Amino acid sequence: MSETSSRRKLKFVVDAMLKNIVSWLRILGYDAVYCGGEDEEVLRIAREDDRIILTMDRGLALTSLRRGLKVMLITENDVSNILAKLAMKYGISLDFDAKNTRCPVCNHELYLAKTGERDEWICPNCGKKYWKGSHWRNISKTIEAAKRKLMEEASKPKS
Ligand SMILES: [Zn+2]
Repeated sequence: MSETSSRRKLKFVVDAMLKNIVSWLRILGYDAVYCGGEDEEVLRIAREDDRIILTMDRGLALTSLRRGLKVMLITENDVSNILAKLAMKYGISLDFDAKNTRCPVCNHELYLAKTGERDEWICPNCGKKYWKGSHWRNISKTIEAAKRKLMEEASKPKS
């Protein structure tokens, strides 16, 4: 499936309870930051940086809506379900793109340094190196599960 990189222009701010979703969004190439601070801090980051708020907090979700900010209330912890819902609502891509991925640690865009036998990515910001090691199986399993859920949802009749 081809897609434009413009879809990866969406940016997110994630609140305390959803910290683990941040690295998933980064792996998929999305600019995502974590904010463990007060609600007002989350709201400020969303407003100033045009970010979509992901939260499990109903109160924060309501305040975001009242202030005209983009928000998605998350009601579960399952990563693949959350990714599928983000794909449905915002059209985020669930296809890993080797040239469009971010550092799970610091959010900087990664540089694909070496291709071939072992693709290798380097973070120009924090210096970390990545490759598809043994953990990659789990990562791709989760992403594949998200895609399956997305397809299931898409094939359901609209009520
Ligand atoms: Zn980094």
